[in-house]
Formats: sequence, C-alpha cells, structure tokens
Amino acid sequence: MGFSHDGKTERTKVSIPAMNRKDMDIAPFSSDLIVEATLVCDQSCIGCYAPNWVSKEIPADSFKSKPHLFLSPDALTSALRSIRPHGGKPFAVSIRGGEPSRHPALSSLIEILHPYASTIFLETHGRWIGRNLIMLNACRMFKIIVAIAFDAMHELPAGAVRDFCRYLDRESVAWRVVITEESQKAFAATRALCDWCSDEQVVYQQKVARSIQLVRPKLGVVRVDGTIANTLSSNLG
Ligand code: SF4
Repeated sequence: MGFSHDGKTERTKVSIPAMNRKDMDIAPFSSDLIVEATLVCDQSCIGCYAPNWVSKEIPADSFKSKPHLFLSPDALTSALRSIRPHGGKPFAVSIRGGEPSRHPALSSLIEILHPYASTIFLETHGRWIGRNLIMLNACRMFKIIVAIAFDAMHELPAGAVRDFCRYLDRESVAWRVVITEESQKAFAATRALCDWCSDEQVVYQQKVARSIQLVRPKLGVVRVDGTIANTLSSNLG
C-alpha cells in the first residue's frame, strides 16, 4: 500500500478507536525508491533511526568538511542508470536523510531524479520552509510533494507545521503531513492536532524500534555513497 505512480494515494482502512470512529481512511507512507541525500541533520530527535552526524553549521561548511556524508549528483546518476535506464516506467521516489535540506546541492539531485520519477516526496522536518527560496523554487518547478514530519519524536509545535503548510499553499507547492507513531492510538492523538488537514493530506508511518522492521522499498535505497541497499541506513539494532 502507499502512493501510486500517478501521485494519488492508495487508501487503506486503519482502525482509530481513540477517535471514536470505526474506520478512518488513512494512507500509510511508502515509495518505490528512497534516496538518502545526506546523513547530516541539524536536529537530534530521540528515537531517530538514522546514523546522522548532527550539525547546525551552514550546509556548505558541512559539505566541505564531510563530503562523504552527502550523495553526489554523479553517484545518483550512476545509481539511477543501474536501477532503471532512462525511459523506463516512472516510479515514486522519497528523498530522505538525515535532513535533505542540509544538502547544499539538493536542487541538482531533484533535477536528476525528475525524469525517472512519477512523484517525488521530500521528507523533511520542515524548518527550512519560509527561509530557503532555492529549495522552495526547486519544489515548485519539479512538482515536489513536501512531506513534513509531525509527531512526538520531532517535537515541532502544531502551529509551526500549520504555518509551513499555509506558506506552501500560498507558494503553490504540494504538501503532506507525515505522522510517525508507535501505535494507532498515538497516531490518532497526533492526527487530532492537525485540524487544518484533510485525511488525504495526512500519511501514517509506523515507528519502529529494530532495523529489521524498517521499510524495504521495491527498488531499494540509494545510500549517500551511491550504492543501492535494500533498506535504510540505520543505527538501530
Ligand atoms: S529531524 Fe528526522 S533525521 Fe533529523 S534527527 Fe529528527 S528524526 Fe532524525
């Protein structure tokens, strides 16, 4: 289940007893290919599975001192050619990290992915929204869907997420709110805080505690060194 190739969401019934509803039409979040743009993040959320280097310095400085933590445009091009020659059936891609906005050449990665992709999701904590016009323009130009993380782990106030969504609406950039929680009850509690979202604008991810439970996308995961693995980089046991 997940996002279909035309960018619409396939739906599944998820029982949400805490909301006193029998069933709620919620889409779990998935894609055919995940691209790990960087293993740098400026947050250190408790429970994050990613083996990140945490840095709040400007992205260009991180790139200069630790280039091995960033996927290069050439490595991405090679990986995509080995997955599927250009001209094949387009597929749904998620760009993840770390935090993708910490990659100083993220726009170049998006441009390379675009001919291969039916849909591109940018999974992000969202704190760049309203402050990074280059990324905003890339999202608009390549019809990216900005997938903003909102859950207990990310500790972002609901009002901030609502402001990000409204900003993206004004700028004609599509978005989803991605809620990653351990249980349906926790999901329902977080979902109840997003009263500005329709059900179509909310997606659910199961929070996992072990690496074996991590998502395994159909076409794999492009790691920051350009290799293709069957699941995400992880520091979980
Ligand atoms: S923002 Fe995302 S990648 Fe960064 S530490 Fe938090 S969960 Fe991990």
